[in-house]
Parts: sequence; C-alpha cells; structure tokens
Amino acid sequence: MHILLMGPPGAGKGTQAERLVEEFQVPHISTGDMFRAAVKEGSPLGKQAKEYMDAGQLVPDAVTIGIVKEGLAKPECKKGFILDGFPRTLEQASALDEALNELGITLKRVININVPANELLARITGRRICRKCGSTYHVMFKLPSSEGVCDKCGAELYQRDDDKEATVKKRLDVYAAQTEPLISYYKTKGLYAQIDGLQNIDKVFADIVANLRGE
Ligand code: ADP
Ligand code: ADP
Ligand code: ZN
Repeated sequence: MHILLMGPPGAGKGTQAERLVEEFQVPHISTGDMFRAAVKEGSPLGKQAKEYMDAGQLVPDAVTIGIVKEGLAKPECKKGFILDGFPRTLEQASALDEALNELGITLKRVININVPANELLARITGRRICRKCGSTYHVMFKLPSSEGVCDKCGAELYQRDDDKEATVKKRLDVYAAQTEPLISYYKTKGLYAQIDGLQNIDKVFADIVANLRGE
C-alpha cells in the first residue's frame, strides 16, 4: 500500500495520515515533520530549512529529495508508506519516480484532499501541534479534551511559526504555482483520486479508505 497524500497547506494531510498509518500499518513519511524535527535538533539541515519555512517557501529540491530518498530506502517502506507533503514540485515528482523504480516500488494511488482556499486560512491559523509527539489539533474543529494539552502524550500544544497569517498567504501562493501542476502529472499516470476535504475528519477518512479498498 504505497500512497501519496496531496493537498494544499491545511487540507488535512497530516490528520488523515495519522489515521491511515494505523489503518494500514505502514510508516508515515512527512517532509514537513522531518524538517521540523531537524529545526528542533538545531542540525545544519534544520538551520537551512528554517529560513525557507519561515518565509513560506519550499526548501530547495536537492535537499528535500536527498532526505526523502534516505527515508524510502528503509526496509519498513517495502510493504507500504503514506508519503505526506512530498512531492511538491515536478522535479521532486520525477526524482520520486526514479527512486521508486530503483527500489522496485509501485505507487498505488495519489490521493488529493481538495479544500478551497477560503477555508484553508481558518484551518491553518487554528491549527495547534503537540511539542512532543507532533499530533495535530484545531482550536475549533478538533479540540483536545484538556485545553492546550495533547490527548496522546500530555505534552504542551503550540502554534507553528509558519502558521501565522502572513506566511500562510505566501504558502498558498507557492502551492498554486509549484505544487498544483502535479495534479495533471498524476492524472496522466492514472493514479489520481480526489477526495472532498470540506467534509468532517471522519467522513474524509472513510472516503479515502473506501477509495483505497476499491469500493
Ligand atoms: P503543511 O502541512 O501546511 O502542508 P508541511 O508541514 O508539509 O506543511 O510543510 C511545512 C514547510 O516545510 C513547507 O512550507 C516548506 O517550507 C517545507 N516543506 C515540506 N515539504 C516540502 C517539500 N516536499 N519540498 C520543499 N519544502 C517542503
Ligand atoms: P495539512 O497536513 O494538510 O497541512 P492538517 O492535517 O495539519 O493539514 O490540518 C490542518 C488543520 O485543520 C488542523 O488544525 C486540523 O486539526 C484541522 N482539520 C483537518 N481536517 C479537518 C476537517 N476535515 N475539518 C475541519 N478541520 C480539519
Ligand atoms: Zn502529544
């Protein structure tokens, strides 16, 4: 079960990935999570990535492709993965094709979670993340049972630096210019499926699972 999850910032990729990895027992590979982990560690990669992330821009392809390739080569990816937030450019998409080809992996589906731009700002500015385990919440749409505290691990929730309104607008522009063209790339390959991301979290999940199970 090798799946790509696509969609604009705030569409619900991370939220759905959390549930899909449980459902299908495959690893979650998120370039955003990888970069945030590197920033937290203060590694050279993190320092480089942070500048781009804070500006709402994409981290350069060469850097991003390198870290994804390392992740994909791990043995646990043989039986499947949920790849979230990668590829985001045509160059990344063709590098991914090449890497999967070398590993003998065939993509099953590219799921695009479709949410109109006017809804995304509310989703992103209300997003809160667990400092420790990375679980995602929302101040209106997905409240933790105790305010500001992660249900899963009890750690503190915070707002990502790049989730403030000014950066979000830039990220939405970058998505339209650099990532949206991938839709026709994967349509041409016959892998593309679009899911209505305006529905509630449970319904979006049910639609994705139904699509993947071919119902
Ligand atoms: P979102 O969940 O809002 O879609 P992510 O957590 O996936 O955002 O990504 C956060 C930031 O990390 C991006 O704005 C970008 O700077 C960087 N990033 C993540 N994935 C990629 C990628 N595939 N290519 C380049 N930059 C990336
Ligand atoms: P992405 O990874 O695509 O950037 P997230 O999964 O982090 O998106 O979701 C963005 C925000 O919207 C989070 O705060 C999340 O709790 C919330 N969210 C996700 N899916 C839905 C949904 N279907 N309806 C309402 N809010 C949602
Ligand atoms: Zn947590």
